[in-house]
Amino acid sequence: MNPLLDNFFAPFETAPFDLIKPEHYLPAIQEAIKIAKEEIQEIKNTPIPTFENTIVALDQSGEKLNVISSIFFNLNSAETNDQIQALAREISPLLTAHSNDILLDEALFANIQFVYEQKEKLNLTEEQKTLLEKTFKSFVRNGAKLDENQKHRLREIDRELSQLGLKFGENVLAETNKYELVISEESDLAGLPEAVKEAALQTGEEKGKQGKWVFTLAYPSYIPFMMYSEKRELRRELFIASSTKSCKGDEFDNQQHIKDMLRLKNERANLLGYPSYSDFVLEERMAKSAPKVMDFLHNLLEMAKPKAKEEVKELEYFAKEIDGLEEIEKWDFAFYSEKLKNQKYEVSDELLRPYFKLENVIEGVFLTAEKLFGIHFIENQNIPKYHPEVTTYEVIDTEGNHVAVFYADFFPRAGKRNGAWMTSFRGQKTTKGKEFRPHVSIVCNFTKPTKTKPSLLTFNEVTTLFHEFGHALHGMLAKGNYESLTGTSVYWDFVELPSQIFENWSYEKECLDLFAKHYETEEIIPSELIQKIKNAANFQQGYQTVRQISFGLLDMAYHGTDPASITDIFAFEREILKPTSLLPDVEGTLMSTSFSHIFQGGYAAGYYSYKWAEVLDADAFEMFLEKGIFDPETANSFKENILSAGGKEHPTILYKRFRGRDPKPDALLKRAGLV
Ligand SMILES: [Zn+2]
Repeated sequence: MNPLLDNFFAPFETAPFDLIKPEHYLPAIQEAIKIAKEEIQEIKNTPIPTFENTIVALDQSGEKLNVISSIFFNLNSAETNDQIQALAREISPLLTAHSNDILLDEALFANIQFVYEQKEKLNLTEEQKTLLEKTFKSFVRNGAKLDENQKHRLREIDRELSQLGLKFGENVLAETNKYELVISEESDLAGLPEAVKEAALQTGEEKGKQGKWVFTLAYPSYIPFMMYSEKRELRRELFIASSTKSCKGDEFDNQQHIKDMLRLKNERANLLGYPSYSDFVLEERMAKSAPKVMDFLHNLLEMAKPKAKEEVKELEYFAKEIDGLEEIEKWDFAFYSEKLKNQKYEVSDELLRPYFKLENVIEGVFLTAEKLFGIHFIENQNIPKYHPEVTTYEVIDTEGNHVAVFYADFFPRAGKRNGAWMTSFRGQKTTKGKEFRPHVSIVCNFTKPTKTKPSLLTFNEVTTLFHEFGHALHGMLAKGNYESLTGTSVYWDFVELPSQIFENWSYEKECLDLFAKHYETEEIIPSELIQKIKNAANFQQGYQTVRQISFGLLDMAYHGTDPASITDIFAFEREILKPTSLLPDVEGTLMSTSFSHIFQGGYAAGYYSYKWAEVLDADAFEMFLEKGIFDPETANSFKENILSAGGKEHPTILYKRFRGRDPKPDALLKRAGLV
């Protein structure tokens, strides 16, 4: 008996975590792949392909496999161990091979194309049209229309690209790990907080340098040093080490890897009929085209640059005043910014924490969702959990109808990866008249309670909880027929709208008054403190905006330029970054060779999406600010047109239906204090 292959008998057909053992996964996945293959065979056997027996059947195929792999990979992130990790190495290639088998199946594609070519005659709804278009395109973009030689070449390119991406990442990691700043004199620690010193001493111990303080290029070590160290020479040394990763011409150099990747990506795009890699990527984005992204970035740059220049001037003045510094260098920026920020806004984590007891914040998040969207969260202990710290809820609407199952998993553990994320164990869909409601989860790493104190969150953790909860709402309120179009299955540059917009409520007095009470005195958070939080959030927004834009421009330049013309990475980067440069250049430094987002992760021609999503969330939230942050009509429109709609239609259409017009950057500029 394998509980993963059985029907799920727990409440709401939730995953039977109480019965699953690690040894169940592999046989269950193998069996589920077999079932999925039979379903695909059935689709291919149909004498006359139709929308229902081909496109819908394909969307519904592999259901068991989806459920089992969701459970497995969610646990590999939230509650893993050596055994699960070893299994993941075995299971991942099976799944990749299976999905390639489907995407490369010529007979299957022939059936899909047959339906696609009749799309005008089929009388499809908008949702059905989107499903057909998405299915057809996913095959074409994977090479289904190419001849044998071209298909072969495409596989070769993909293989090489994945190897180059891995190599790129390994080099950056090797460079990060091999550098150490070893401090033996306590006087060289001037300015550093006790906790930072303690951590450095521990790093020294781990690296066999007993009694010495060791700093590395890992962020938790690097950032505090740059922020607090009074030793300018040492800051410089650490900065140079961090900014010359993988560009020193040795075995860890990434310059040739970049050129090779750009050449291959461009060739891949050309094979599929696109002039450049960015054209290939952006076709499946809300932004639609490279010129539109470039306009977007340039427009924002023009608005942010004057403010950024002012901020640098302010910092120069400040540094001169307190230290007699003549010119701010890149290794001075974080140090003086931290001091200036403290002087301007005296608002610290420790001052705010007492108002943000975790239980109160959760209560506040639920209450906000209740006021906006009429849903209620009821703890349900009968739903099986994968760890005792997980809390399980049933979500119902005002009439008592079942909406979703919600899992919340808040504290760090040895088997959990860093960060915070939303995920789901089951998506929403309607199959043969039966609706499946979603099972959604958020996983975080928040400050734990201690013997004497409850879990008191930093404000940053509060906004993180609102953020992930926004993603969760997108999943929980999903209302569609096809799983591949519901919930968070939307274009990449649209998926952060629900999460980022939800963060806005955590800055509003009307919302904070609901839950931000001092954990001892019950006093509601004072208005002056809220104002300080808002002001501090806008500190150096001009500078930060220009910085994000510079990365976006560099990304677009790499993926939109003929790679043959990129011969010198140093010169190319300098040229592209010139319009966004605010501090003196440092000879010999380079950011491209450690730009893992675009050369290792999936952000190629996508870095702009960070700012893009901010424009959307500020613009959408402005409507709530105008009508009231709990205005029922606005909330309902946001729910119907955005949260419940998923990827049913193009995001431009959905957004316009909510906002009444296309998005404008004005609200973001205003919120960030740039106009
Ligand atoms: Zn997010």
